[in-house]
Amino acid sequence: MEQRNTERGDIQAALRRLPSVDLVLQSAQACEPMARFGRAAMIDAARQALATLREAVKAGAPPLSANAVAERAVALLETAARSTLSPLFNLTGTVLHTNLGRAALAEAAIEAASIVMREAVALEFDLATGKRGERDVHLRDLVCELTGAEDATIVNNNAAAVLLVLNSLALGKDAIVSRGELIEIGGAFRMPDIMTRAGARLVEVGTTNRTHPRDYADAINDQTGLVLKVHTSNYRIEGFTREVDAAELAVIAKEKGVPLVNDLGSGTLTDLTAFGLSHEPTVREAVAEGADIVTFSGDKLLGGPQGGFIVGRRDLLARINKNPMKRALRVDKIRLAALEATLKLYRDPERLAERLPTMRFLSRKTDEIRALAERLSAAIRPMLGPDFDVGAVHCQSQIGSGALPLSTIASAGLTIAPKDGSGSALASLAAALRRLPMPVIGRVERGALILDLRCLEDEERFIANLSSLSAEMGRPADDADR
Ligand SMILES: *Cc1c(COP(=O)(O)O)cnc(C)c1O
Repeated sequence: MEQRNTERGDIQAALRRLPSVDLVLQSAQACEPMARFGRAAMIDAARQALATLREAVKAGAPPLSANAVAERAVALLETAARSTLSPLFNLTGTVLHTNLGRAALAEAAIEAASIVMREAVALEFDLATGKRGERDVHLRDLVCELTGAEDATIVNNNAAAVLLVLNSLALGKDAIVSRGELIEIGGAFRMPDIMTRAGARLVEVGTTNRTHPRDYADAINDQTGLVLKVHTSNYRIEGFTREVDAAELAVIAKEKGVPLVNDLGSGTLTDLTAFGLSHEPTVREAVAEGADIVTFSGDKLLGGPQGGFIVGRRDLLARINKNPMKRALRVDKIRLAALEATLKLYRDPERLAERLPTMRFLSRKTDEIRALAERLSAAIRPMLGPDFDVGAVHCQSQIGSGALPLSTIASAGLTIAPKDGSGSALASLAAALRRLPMPVIGRVERGALILDLRCLEDEERFIANLSSLSAEMGRPADDADR
């Protein structure tokens, strides 16, 4: 009993020795952070640090000085100040990784975006007349020049483009689509759901593997709003198949007098074979094949910011532009400026690979990536210690975002595997890499972590970033959640 009382007395004494919030704020350690984060934030953090410490002292921990509490408060502020959108190294081998933000923008696009961010611009203002202008004028001519289309508009993304087209041209009407093209792409974008939400009646034709011209022709009647062709972005149907290609479908649609909409998904503005890749239909080809409307993304193969393009017949674009939903789907000046600068790079295809990161990554020579892998594996081996095997390997990159889903590009990277084959050691390594100041994201393949180096350009930054790796690998797993 007496001993308990003494203990309680000790704790009371320890609690009394804790510094006040004021003392913490006046400590030397608090001075510079106070200027950086502001007084109010510093007070909050000091209170929080003291509350945590008070609980620890009650459990028997020793009290801390004002300086030490200030240090803890500053650590809290620094953690809170870290953005969850900080840059990372995408070494997954998927160049256009939707979950990692897709395309890295060209310098020209970044510059154009930052200029309009700072200033007022004639976004919807006609400088010649001084009257209200139109948001689409800034890109329309350029998009038409690059695609051969009559008219164009830009919305939030390609999903929005598809939604707006369906709602404008097939509200309360039939939208005819092949059963082989009723795709689901990532993030719950399912073609049938989008069509329903757009107010169109989905009319499925053909079967999963075979759709014939007469399937479309038989389905078209006076209830038809449009015929939709969808790029099967993330899969291929192979074997006993029949697909009605866009040119064939255009003839049928024209004969029956209904618009043909071709959702290209990624879409590209340039011939990818010039960059050593397989052929992917270009927007110009899709327009020339006779589609009345073509939709495609801004941040897939095009390599720009998020955006959705709708190009095609002027009379149909006029109906689309009149849809009140367009206002809800429009793009702001920042993305318009970045898109314009990105599109302009396509006027000079010879220098595209140099200027547009997406094309630069995709066309990077395997030998160059392999040499980088050899250099980095020598540099990294000593950092990982004796428990891991590190080497350079050949691997396969993919474009991502539904472009050329089955074709991969020969690449090279690092393979890192625990010598004892332990799955938990591999998972801890991957987690430690994700905790680095600039997180490193790879992929696990057959018991090894593969870091595909196709998208790694700044070798020095990568190595410097690894300097805290051994400390991160020493941290216990639950301490890791921050
Ligand atoms: C990717 C894709 C979309 C959606 O495009 P976002 O720009 O991601 O909105 C729509 N249709 C197809 C066929 C696609 O591949």
